[in-house]
Amino acid sequence: MELDKRVNGTTKLTGLIGNPVEHTVSPVLHNTLFTMMGMNGIYIPMKPDTDSLGNAVAGLKAAGFTGFNVTIPFKEAILEYLDVASEEVRLLGTANTVHIKDGRLIGHNTDGDGFIHAFRKQTGTDIRGKKVCVLGAGGTARALAVKLAIEGAGRICIINRTKPKADEIAEYINCSLAGVLKSGTHACTAAADSDEARCVLDRYDVIVNTTSAGMHPHTDSSPIKDDIRFLSRPIVYDVIYNPSETRLLRHARSKGCVAVNGAGMLFFQGLRSFEIWMGVCVPEKIVEDLLTEFLNYLTV
Ligand code: NAP
Repeated sequence: MELDKRVNGTTKLTGLIGNPVEHTVSPVLHNTLFTMMGMNGIYIPMKPDTDSLGNAVAGLKAAGFTGFNVTIPFKEAILEYLDVASEEVRLLGTANTVHIKDGRLIGHNTDGDGFIHAFRKQTGTDIRGKKVCVLGAGGTARALAVKLAIEGAGRICIINRTKPKADEIAEYINCSLAGVLKSGTHACTAAADSDEARCVLDRYDVIVNTTSAGMHPHTDSSPIKDDIRFLSRPIVYDVIYNPSETRLLRHARSKGCVAVNGAGMLFFQGLRSFEIWMGVCVPEKIVEDLLTEFLNYLTV
């Protein structure tokens, strides 16, 4: 028998707060990163009641945590407890990463960065000047649409079944964000399954699904109709990673499109959180090795 001596009084404490958290794969990523980086740290999932966020945050601070990730349903509510919000958090209105430094809670949002890194790495394509369609208008859609605008996408069309939510994001990009944007990105919207939406899906360069349609266990669901032809052969990126091939990605692949799931985004947003907490830059060789292993692990 060998004693497990990995955790001791100097172990850096990190983790995830969300509800539910039963299916999270983030501990696999972060705990492997601690090992590969030769760092004494641990990452654990935590599930506060939805009305106990304040108590949970105060507890993590009092217990000396270095930082934590935040997921559904706390990504907006966490803003109330931050001492400092990064520029991305201020622009996006949500945070997925909190760094506790000198007793202060500093909020970051690494979802947009994670998506852009993964997209570039996995497709070899730069988003600048591209016509990008974002399916969905929830928290992830907002984070990605704003990041796409900041990164210089030429045009962004947000398609959602509840169109007013898409309109609100487009208006934010076209009006409130206009002063921040270096390029002349324009955002527009369409109602899901409308003629305008069909036209966009046939003409745009990149389609990003941010809806939860198709996610386990609802694998028969898709955010678009089966008769969409993807005439311009767009890159289709689905932020869902479970299952590894959603109905949307299967559909896109059958039409000859490059189809990529959200495992890479999950990896890079987590990697960035780790770097923020630990104040390190993970070496490229570790990133490459771990990315390959992590993508294999998530192929189900
Ligand atoms: P959210 O705020 O609840 O938004 C969900 C969106 O999906 C809404 O626009 C909703 O439309 C739409 N939707 C839900 N079911 C649908 C259906 N059956 N058909 C068409 N549209 C549907 O959720 P979120 O926080 O943005 O998360 C969305 C997805 O992103 C989740 O699957 C999450 O796991 C994934 N995600 C992945 C990563 C990653 O690293 N890969 C990171 C963050 C999130 P309505 O507005 O009409 O209700």
